Amino acid sequence: MYFMNIQTFDYNNSDQEKFDLEHVWHPYTSLTNPLPTYEIVRAEGCCLELADGTRLVDGMSSWWACIHGYNVAKLNEAVSQQIEKMSHVMFGGIRHENATGLAKRLIDITPESLQYVFFADSGSVAVEVSLKMALQYFSGRISTKKRFLALRGGYHGDTFGAMSVTDPVGSMHSIYSDFLTQNYFISRPSCRFYDPWDPACCDELYSVLKEHHEEIAGVILEPVVQGAGGMYFYHPEFLRRVRAYCDYFNVLFIADEIATGFGRTGKMFACNWAGVEPDIMTVGKALTGGYMTLSAVLCNRKVMEGICTGKAGVLMHGPTFMGNPLATRVACASVDLLLSFDWKSSVRTIESWLKKYLLPLSTYNWVKETRVLGSIGVVELKTPVDMAALQKSFVKSGVWIRPFGRLIYLMLPYIINEEQVRLLCTAIEKVLIEKD
Ligand code: PMP
Repeated sequence: MYFMNIQTFDYNNSDQEKFDLEHVWHPYTSLTNPLPTYEIVRAEGCCLELADGTRLVDGMSSWWACIHGYNVAKLNEAVSQQIEKMSHVMFGGIRHENATGLAKRLIDITPESLQYVFFADSGSVAVEVSLKMALQYFSGRISTKKRFLALRGGYHGDTFGAMSVTDPVGSMHSIYSDFLTQNYFISRPSCRFYDPWDPACCDELYSVLKEHHEEIAGVILEPVVQGAGGMYFYHPEFLRRVRAYCDYFNVLFIADEIATGFGRTGKMFACNWAGVEPDIMTVGKALTGGYMTLSAVLCNRKVMEGICTGKAGVLMHGPTFMGNPLATRVACASVDLLLSFDWKSSVRTIESWLKKYLLPLSTYNWVKETRVLGSIGVVELKTPVDMAALQKSFVKSGVWIRPFGRLIYLMLPYIINEEQVRLLCTAIEKVLIEKD
């Protein structure tokens, strides 16, 4: 019966669409009231190609990941060469040049003190590992340190530990609140990226740490740019205060660079805006140039030694696909590719195009604010979007933009050209005009 179903499945397009709508969950969706989906058959450079041949200019880098665009010759070559050698081999008791080489590259490009690397499967899992690292660091030393301090408006992933440090109110995770560890949250820094620095925005950070530091193992945050929680850009000086207070109160500083890493904000890592070195850093998304899922957690000597001389003596995590040879090989190629061109000036140029075409959209009635940092452009609206309707309009305009909540945002591949940025912004302007 099962086989018959497979054989009789008709792979024509309308059947596929129906099957997908009825059986396949897409991110954050319902199966009884599904959102429409678009079939992509090919992706190349900055374009996604629909089944009917329509080409859409990509404004999303597939959720921060595809920084070099799609179908990248150097990355394709890395994958196909590797696949001939070995796609996967367990990491327990085995090493290979791809994982070792990637660890070396990550140690070279992240802040100096981060010298030890753990490979994980996805961003959320990297966050889980980072929390485990902090808990293990303190276990047996200061047994009261079992909680974390995080920022409201922050987002760190969809697994349980990650949800417990993600904004408890704004995020959809509030439906799981009964099952989550209760952590401490403070307001996100009110001082914006382009504002003059206001030290008062650290008052809550200081007072919560002062009162609860004996319970707090780590402060976890997305440096400078809060992504999924609101595309909010805050002042880098805040990170310096976090570093100083963490040192003072014996709390670890965890920087989640999963979205911001690999040049996205105009610096290699967003921590570089403040010149701070966290104790633990998570990276993912663009790590493989968006080719496949892989993440990494880096830590400094203090954390590494604390874990290894602690109660367990080992870091208690070891996923099946840890250090996967294909993923680590393509990640090496992606980092090498990034370092092979003047990515800083590419991101700066994209930023200037976004300032030229996207910032002026703030004059429309529906718009609360527009903002730009590096290759990120945000149009924050006064009221939420109708996602399906807007998506349809964008596809009609020849662009791929996926709005959510009150945000229409762009995170552009670093190879995009001015004409493509203009097209994306014009498509956004069209929906703003229609609403006005
Ligand atoms: N941290 C941050 C800052 C993120 O933006 C995301 C993903 N949007 C995650 C963690 C989780 O990563 P993943 O979706 O790969 O699990």
